[in-house]
Amino acid sequence: MRLGRRGGRQASVTAVHNPGARRQLEEALVRALIFPQPQNVQWLSEELVLAESGQALCRIVLAENAEPLERLAAAVVADAIAKLGEARPEMGTDAGGGVSIYVGGCARQREGAECALRDAGQHPEAYGLLAQGDSIALLGNTPAGTFYAAQTLRQMLYKEGDSVRVDGAVISDWPDFRYRGLYIESKWGPDLMSLQDWKDCIDYMAALKFNSLGIGVYACWCVQYEGKRTEFSMLPYPEHPELQTPKTIKYYSAKQQQWQSLTYLPRMFEEDFFGEVVAYAKSRNVIVRPQFNGPGHTTLIPHTHPEVAAKDEAGRPQVYGYCLSNPKTYELIFELWDSIIDRYLAPNGIDWFHMGLDEIYNITGADEENPERVVDPWCKCPACREKSRNELLQDYVIRATQHLVGKGINNITIWNDHLASVGMLTPEFVASLEQAGVRDKVVLQWWRYDEPALEIPQDLGLRAWTTPMPGYWFWLFYEDLTSNIYPHLALAHRAGAEGADAYATFDPAFDRNYYCLAEYSWNQATVEDIYEFKSKYARKLTGASGFEAVEAFEKFDQAYGSVPWVRGALDMLLFYWHSYSRARSQYPGNVVKSLLHDSMRLRNTYHGMRTHLSRASHFFEACRAKAPDPGLIDQYLWECERLVAVVDTYEAILAAIRKSQEALAAAEPEARAQGLRAAAQVVSEGLSRLDAMMARAEDVKKAYLLPQILRDLSRLRGFVTELAAAVHAAADSQAAVGRLEKLLADLS
Ligand SMILES: [Zn+2]
Repeated sequence: MRLGRRGGRQASVTAVHNPGARRQLEEALVRALIFPQPQNVQWLSEELVLAESGQALCRIVLAENAEPLERLAAAVVADAIAKLGEARPEMGTDAGGGVSIYVGGCARQREGAECALRDAGQHPEAYGLLAQGDSIALLGNTPAGTFYAAQTLRQMLYKEGDSVRVDGAVISDWPDFRYRGLYIESKWGPDLMSLQDWKDCIDYMAALKFNSLGIGVYACWCVQYEGKRTEFSMLPYPEHPELQTPKTIKYYSAKQQQWQSLTYLPRMFEEDFFGEVVAYAKSRNVIVRPQFNGPGHTTLIPHTHPEVAAKDEAGRPQVYGYCLSNPKTYELIFELWDSIIDRYLAPNGIDWFHMGLDEIYNITGADEENPERVVDPWCKCPACREKSRNELLQDYVIRATQHLVGKGINNITIWNDHLASVGMLTPEFVASLEQAGVRDKVVLQWWRYDEPALEIPQDLGLRAWTTPMPGYWFWLFYEDLTSNIYPHLALAHRAGAEGADAYATFDPAFDRNYYCLAEYSWNQATVEDIYEFKSKYARKLTGASGFEAVEAFEKFDQAYGSVPWVRGALDMLLFYWHSYSRARSQYPGNVVKSLLHDSMRLRNTYHGMRTHLSRASHFFEACRAKAPDPGLIDQYLWECERLVAVVDTYEAILAAIRKSQEALAAAEPEARAQGLRAAAQVVSEGLSRLDAMMARAEDVKKAYLLPQILRDLSRLRGFVTELAAAVHAAADSQAAVGRLEKLLADLS
């Protein structure tokens, strides 16, 4: 049946009343979904059969001297056909019987391919794709374009009966942003990623036509867990064994039913595989750009090298910031940067580097001896005091960028926030970069993770990238960040920004946010219509444009779409933000206390979200069996369960406290014991609920994310266990009542 053609939005599902016809149209519409949306697609009234009954009916044609990316493009197509059709097409330099799929330079011999490519313009990643008659042509301006043509064709394949097919089409496509991708921060999670995890991440990115991967290799934050500063050095320096950041994470495993203690160094450090990550990414048209942060976000180097640390008025070295007047500071930093460039970047022909520069301000928590002490990253030595901070920083930026350029680095990214906040982004500053010969090498990364979206000035004369957030705090409640991503990209595109890469950790649960970034960094045409994107994503994810898919995400968004606005109130339930403050040892008692009073009526908000997410779970469950990737649905299901279980756990705690108080007030010993047994029952149920969710995490979440996710949940669990033990004991024995009374008194 040929219903309209696959014009996507031209055909209307709701206008078709015959259920069978409607089903076919729905399937056709889902087939036409391509991420990111190509710029020009013309569907033709024909379909090409590529495999049937386990037999390949096509052949991939590749020139003998084909480039590696063209060979990879051919492999992408062959793998996709093999997966659907259980038959792998042959590859050769000549056309054969059946459909010929020309990949790369040899596609020029296919009439019409050059025409499609010409319409795509001069962009190095532009491509033409022609599927018509007995051939398919995938032709890019460069091998990268051909690779992207293959990623498009891969998504166009579909199964009908026991055949693999593709609809006839002419596609001319190119990206709106030159650079697109993710910046993955040095953090718990990324520090446990294996080489294979990084390769999987890169394959995922390449399939979305991302071409840029920033990786944090050095950055530090204040004291949070275990009274230790949060420092990450992801790369080993043979000359500097002191620059290492071992960590211990203790968490409860509900599956093992016991506490775990993981002591480790970042896997990238221990196995020294960063060079392999850079090379693997490059083979997939993804540039890896390491970020070595400073002079904010640095405590490890000042701590281990006090001679380069910022000094206080008395000349004492601080554990945060550098002395920017001391030549030794530059010697050390440049030595470390050169080591990264020489060992990992230059051998792979990479000329990109990120020198950080964000958040250079006073912080508490830099000093482990006295975490409450405010520490200033700005040096107070006589030489530093002779200059203003802005002068010191400008000298630093110029010396650092000139050094990098001298090392063959032609693209240096710098966060915008500090320079902007102290008024340094002036024509004079840009002129000084020009004079230093580095202006065209410097790229400002404009970041903001909340609203309103950040506008990039158009007349500054510096290259610009926009940096929204697609998901970072995987250990907190989920966040729909599409509303952060699309306006940033729209504004940046209008301002002429060349790049869009987002600040992230890598968690498959953030899939929709990453897709949103991919969609709009490639194609700005539909950026005003985020609901169209969400609908398209829901249909792709669940394999049908059915009622359940739309409902699932609608409920999901009713809860998690509001997180950017209520994040503080919601995340208060988890340990993370409490870890920053003096009150870290009181969690979650401090939360229980405030919920007992609940002057802000937050419990209603939590209940509302809980209700939406229970409904979302119901609909996700209904979609799961038919979804192309049920594992991805499981990610969303667990994100629903995380909040539902945490809210239920707090409710159980509050109910148990109320029941205990009532029981203890009873005059009759028997009534008291009975009341306490009821309280014990309630809190035990809460504990089981929490354990079930935590155990499920171990099935669903990536292994590298688990320790950090479970560490925070384990804090809550510890409290519930303690309360349960106290209530049970008091129910069983009068002698234990005192302990329960003390616990309750501490909470009131
Ligand atoms: Zn100094």
